[in-house]
Amino acid sequence: IGPYKGGLRFHPSVNLSIIKFLGFEQIFKNSLTGLPIGGGKGGSDFDPKGKSDNEIMKFCQSFMTELYRHIGPNVDVPAGDIGVGGREIGYLYGQYKRIRNANDQGVLTGKGLTYGGSLARTQATGFGIIYFVEEMLKEAGKTINGQTVVISGAGNVAIYAVKKAQELGAKVVAMCDSSGYIVDEDGIDLPLVQQIKEIERKRIKEYAVRKPSAKYFEGNKGIWTVKADVVIPCATQNEIDLNDAKIIVENGTFAVGEGANMPCTNEAVEYFLEKGVLLAPAKAANAGGVATSALEMSQNSMRLSWTFEEVDEKYDNYKQRVHRKNFYLRNGLQEMGFKYVEKDVKYEMLYVGKKLSSKVYDELMVAYAGPVYHKFRDYQADELID
Ligand code: NDP
Repeated sequence: IGPYKGGLRFHPSVNLSIIKFLGFEQIFKNSLTGLPIGGGKGGSDFDPKGKSDNEIMKFCQSFMTELYRHIGPNVDVPAGDIGVGGREIGYLYGQYKRIRNANDQGVLTGKGLTYGGSLARTQATGFGIIYFVEEMLKEAGKTINGQTVVISGAGNVAIYAVKKAQELGAKVVAMCDSSGYIVDEDGIDLPLVQQIKEIERKRIKEYAVRKPSAKYFEGNKGIWTVKADVVIPCATQNEIDLNDAKIIVENGTFAVGEGANMPCTNEAVEYFLEKGVLLAPAKAANAGGVATSALEMSQNSMRLSWTFEEVDEKYDNYKQRVHRKNFYLRNGLQEMGFKYVEKDVKYEMLYVGKKLSSKVYDELMVAYAGPVYHKFRDYQADELID
């Protein structure tokens, strides 16, 4: 339905298995948006932490020297993910342009505004999660306004999730990086976090040094012991396991919004659902970034730059569509007795406790994002299992 689309990750943990699960997630996420993009993902086990700008630039240039032959505005259009933000996209794009000698702006998204980037892209993933959580809360007769919220991570997704949550009246009391977490009962001072993480590129620990009302704790697991009404994991995969989920429920949390990709383990998801916690799944909740990336691609193809309001209006249409489809899918599958199981990089669809036939599975996967699943009602029972 369109060029491959997904982020590039630079993190020492990156391996083929991680990229495969991210790519697989991305396919479903992108189809949920209804926009003309296929799914993809990429990255490197390069560790950007502690490297100078010059070292980062040199790595990005080397990486693109190989990658350029595999991507293109109509082939595969990478964006950022963990360890790849605006700075890295700029270095990557510069090298692509140098090699191809062409102004192919649509080859990467998340670009700077002076060379084909889109307004609202930087904020889109984080804002999108909060929009999604707010929709979910509305359905339950609640709102995020006045709620105490814990948001893990201190990167692109977390920062803009905090911003939107605060704008809508929530009190965010904790954030983290991979070294430790901060708790600020006065509410997180976001400009200070941005100064430390985005400008100085220092550790979150620094926040507690500069803000007397805050405490810093070493290690990142403890963040889930901080009492909150709503919890929004925005750091990385599997950051909430069953044990964390139990603590979260015990603390009275009634809603969880997955900002990172697959941040809750299967056991944690099952536990939340069993306990009646509202859960916004990542595939739908964090699709705002890639949807806005697709809008950046449209602007590049049209050689136009939309205003923030124009991007936001188009994004709003998509937002409502994703929410409807996610709701439809979740309820539709359950109604038909299917269970969608995610285990590491393996996905299975169970029907009355048995693995679904590969034929029906393939078709169901294709239909995943759309209303066409109704046709599976017409299958005979013996066609459902191999
Ligand atoms: P960033 O690199 O900007 O930020 C990641 C943040 O999470 C950093 O603060 C990092 O800390 C922290 N972190 C990483 N690993 C751990 C860990 N094991 N425990 C605690 N904290 C950790 O990445 P993004 O914000 O872009 O991405 C975050 C998540 O959102 C990922 O799962 C990504 O796939 C997903 N996502 C991102 C999108 C985007 O548009 N950027 C779109 C959709 C999903 P440190 O600095 O110490 O490493």
